Amino acid sequence: MTYQGVLTKMESEFLEPIQYYLVFENDFININQLLEKRITLEFVVYQCLNCGLNKPIFRQGFCKSCFFDIPQAADWIMRPELSTAHLDQEDRDLEYEKKVQLQPHIVYLANSSNVKVGVTRKSQVPTRWIDQGAHEAIEIVEVPNRYLAGITEVALKEHVSDKTNWRNMLKNDIQDEDLVAWRERLKSYIPEEAHDYYIANNTETNLVFPVDKYPEKPKSLNLVKEKQYSGKLVGIKGQYLIFDDDRVFNIRSNEGLVIGLSL
Ligand SMILES: [Zn+2]
Repeated sequence: MTYQGVLTKMESEFLEPIQYYLVFENDFININQLLEKRITLEFVVYQCLNCGLNKPIFRQGFCKSCFFDIPQAADWIMRPELSTAHLDQEDRDLEYEKKVQLQPHIVYLANSSNVKVGVTRKSQVPTRWIDQGAHEAIEIVEVPNRYLAGITEVALKEHVSDKTNWRNMLKNDIQDEDLVAWRERLKSYIPEEAHDYYIANNTETNLVFPVDKYPEKPKSLNLVKEKQYSGKLVGIKGQYLIFDDDRVFNIRSNEGLVIGLSL
């Protein structure tokens, strides 16, 4: 059986364990069903997620010219504090920016290798946590737009990390943290504009990933360079496929690659 399609990040379903799906134009593959099976991945061509051309992918699944042009790749995506739609101010496309920025956003704490602060649209909870491979997370602030979430994150970053260590996340080198206690500790650092949006009484969400064997020394697979790779799939965590020989393949950072997947 061979499938072929352009990679976009895996879709997921919040069950125990989490279910992952690869969505190709003509196929919908439940990756959990490939666990303990030997699969072959092959790089075919590039296909920019915006223009569709066979041009090297620069970032986020887009070719270089699309990345510097389209509203889906603007700076405020990665740096929410730069959002300006609430001021009616356009960056690249005001209509798009209003649609995405002027909706409820969550500032959260997630623990994948260490506790970190992050921002996401409310509609992306718990998907965002699944994508990061967090085994526990909690919402701390719910605000009406992306800007307020961004300035809250910037303020909290002074007191808690905003990065995760992907190697430790994959090795499952993790600790159970009391995120309610973290939230209470960080409360006083929330900026005044967002103070009223603090969530005082919710509990941690715990996530269980489908992993049979964690890698001891995870080594990233560069499919463009190697062209083809075969291995036994032993786990899925975050947006990573984990193989028996400690190789790991990050689906999200390979968006825009057309690949063949055969069993
Ligand atoms: Zn393009």
